[in-house]
Amino acid sequence: MENILQETISIMKKYNIKANKALGQNFLINANVIENIVESSNIKREDLVIEIGPGLGTLTKYLLEKAGRVICVELDKRMIEILKDRFKNFDKLEILNQDILEVNLNELINKEKEKYNLQNVKVVANLPYYITTPIIMMLLEQELNLDSITVMIQKEVADRLIAIPGKKNTGAITYTIYYYAETEEILEVPNSSFIPAPEVTSKVIKLKLRKEKPIQVKNEELMFKIIKLAFSQRRKTLVNSLVNSKIFSSKEEAEKILKEIKLDKNIRAEKLSLQDFASIANCISKS
Ligand code: SAM
Repeated sequence: MENILQETISIMKKYNIKANKALGQNFLINANVIENIVESSNIKREDLVIEIGPGLGTLTKYLLEKAGRVICVELDKRMIEILKDRFKNFDKLEILNQDILEVNLNELINKEKEKYNLQNVKVVANLPYYITTPIIMMLLEQELNLDSITVMIQKEVADRLIAIPGKKNTGAITYTIYYYAETEEILEVPNSSFIPAPEVTSKVIKLKLRKEKPIQVKNEELMFKIIKLAFSQRRKTLVNSLVNSKIFSSKEEAEKILKEIKLDKNIRAEKLSLQDFASIANCISKS
């Protein structure tokens, strides 16, 4: 096992780097964890890997050993200099100094896949925790035809993302994730695996993008709007929150639709399956 702690400290010294908290910089120093991330990503020579926030390049080094090509997107300019220096001998690496939320991933992926004859696209990252959810949502909603997303994120967020709709620990995002992907918990990571150590425990999760959606819905946007509204007032009954937010014009209309799809009129959002929400949206679309 390599001594990543020593290596990290020496790179930070050499380039006079202090971690920028505002950018969520917590550098991985645990080789076991890194090997676990790489192994569970199941990277092959014909894969294009997108790494978000490579930082000092600790995980990047491992990804380069496995992938056909790696694209790193890093917002902090200081890291770009380090990455260019560190990996100057790798022509399979592309380094972009950009905010991941502003990159045209669709265009980039298509170009790279075609140019280098690559089959699958896998995202692997130790994500900056301040924008975990926007990044994951962007990756899913843009329909980028990704194979998988393997990410380290805050434990509490991970638990919510991989919860099962209708069971414990869910939020609106649980349903969105379930719609797009099958989820898997890879491992829990203590804060001592990073420098500086974050205040929270982390988890690595893997999202395997579905080839076919698990339910049929006529109007996706409406379904997700209903889910968001239902969970924004989760202590209320579903009927009350959807009447309050004007999805239904009256309690009677709401209760009639719930009856039609065989749901109790006093049910709360967290008891519904994704299919239940799709059925509500489908009933509204038809009326
Ligand atoms: N991959 C490195 C590791 O595991 O040691 C660093 C991970 S650190 C948790 C998150 C990285 O994301 C930092 O390098 C940070 O500068 C970068 N970052 C923060 N916001 C970003 C954004 N909007 N787009 C791209 N990178 C970002």
